[in-house]
Amino acid sequence: HFITIEGNEGAGKSTIALMMLDYMRDKGLTVVATREPGGIAIAEQIRAIVLDNGNTAMDGRTEALLYAAARRQHFVEKIVPTLEQGKTILCDRFVDSSLAYQGFARGLGIDEVMSINAFAIEGVFPDLTIYLDVDPQVGIERIHAHGEREINRLDLESSAFHQRVREGYQEALARYPDRIVRIDANPDIGDVFAAVAGVLDRFLDR
Ligand code: C5P
Repeated sequence: HFITIEGNEGAGKSTIALMMLDYMRDKGLTVVATREPGGIAIAEQIRAIVLDNGNTAMDGRTEALLYAAARRQHFVEKIVPTLEQGKTILCDRFVDSSLAYQGFARGLGIDEVMSINAFAIEGVFPDLTIYLDVDPQVGIERIHAHGEREINRLDLESSAFHQRVREGYQEALARYPDRIVRIDANPDIGDVFAAVAGVLDRFLDR
């Protein structure tokens, strides 16, 4: 299986990803957890460039191309070999992030961003995408309050930007309704995970 997890800043993606990992391993699946941008050395180097707070002059298309380049390398080095070994991949962010952030929020166009990503992933889409839908205000407050990770260049974008990211995810959802499942990520993490577990059960049983 190829499973991805998506959502705005502070949606709880990394926490839910860890819970999903335990849950699927308990069911006897061999799961490899990874993340984007990053997951392997070359892509982590690209991640450092694109998220560097000093790179305020970065052009939107440059940003989109860097994400697609990081995705390509991670796809070839990690996703494809893992799937070929018959294992399950659980990836924190994938193409839908680019559609939402660069395609929609940055205004580059969902179709344009999809075309560079189609080049990168050669038509291999996830079987299931869990989209954690959080109110952007709630999400940003979580990031700042919990100090879970360093504040990066994208966190510092305006609240209007984060609102557009959320709209971008709704657009992606409208385009790929069979693959993407929306989960309300505003409640406490336990309740969010219960909903995710229900989706996983149905997916794994089908
Ligand atoms: O939360 P995570 O570690 O996945 O965040 C990585 C950062 O990269 C986030 O701030 C997110 O906004 C940004 N990002 C982006 N465009 C993408 C993927 C991630 O702006 N396509």
